[in-house]
Amino acid sequence: MKVTFSSQNNNSSKLQKQKIAFEAGLTPKMIEEIRNVDVLEISKRLEGKGIPNDFQGNKVLAWGSDKTVELFEQFNERFGTNISLPKAIFAINFKHLNTETPHAYGICNLTRTKLIKGSNEIIPSRIVFFNTEHNWDNINPIADARYAKGTIGTDFFLYPMIHEYTHVAHEDYLLSQFDGKTVAKKITSAKKPYKTFIYRMKYGDRISQICKNALIDPFETIACDMPIRLINSIDKETLKPIKNPFVGTPYEKGLISQEYSYRKRPLPEILGNIWNGKFD
Ligand SMILES: [Zn+2]
Repeated sequence: MKVTFSSQNNNSSKLQKQKIAFEAGLTPKMIEEIRNVDVLEISKRLEGKGIPNDFQGNKVLAWGSDKTVELFEQFNERFGTNISLPKAIFAINFKHLNTETPHAYGICNLTRTKLIKGSNEIIPSRIVFFNTEHNWDNINPIADARYAKGTIGTDFFLYPMIHEYTHVAHEDYLLSQFDGKTVAKKITSAKKPYKTFIYRMKYGDRISQICKNALIDPFETIACDMPIRLINSIDKETLKPIKNPFVGTPYEKGLISQEYSYRKRPLPEILGNIWNGKFD
């Protein structure tokens, strides 16, 4: 697949082209890397990590998914975080899925469901799908446009991958706190239209500060907010972590190891815990 970006097709000066390429973070070096990527090699590597996948030969999706998995692993290794990885990743045209959002960039199915049209197969939870309806070669301008509209809260090009994977991290944390049936019930209930309506009535003014998509339901709220914290914690040139993304955030419990948590816990939280009768 030829990786071309709209920013390279216009008649602007070289300097302008470079500026456009950098806006959402995709550097010329990365563009070159994507051009030369071996999708099969990435597939095998992810398979080896216990993540079955099919990218339909899409270089951008394969490269972006691989980079995001690597990034999460590096966070976990360097900062004692506990960010889980998707159970599987598939590229598919969403017209083949039973979904209310056929034009979405990605979906992470939070509950076991018959997701494939015309098939009775139950798809397990925490599988990530990316929509091949979109031209992923334009990942950079797409990120810019979505950010400009306020749909998402960052213009970083890896956002679609990071967003879907944080759904997995959220659900895994819930499953560590409640049994599977309870989590499934919570998800189904929270996504009911009247529930999301009440949710927006109660918290919409504050949640809209994250981005528009964060208003969809509570699960989208987390998967819109958490990526911003992750993205703010990486070196955009090397795509390597530079700090722990969760210190002093609502995600500290569950996503940071206990030892790191007590060593780095900010003073207001220490005081808050004591005030609330938590003395550990
Ligand atoms: Zn989402």
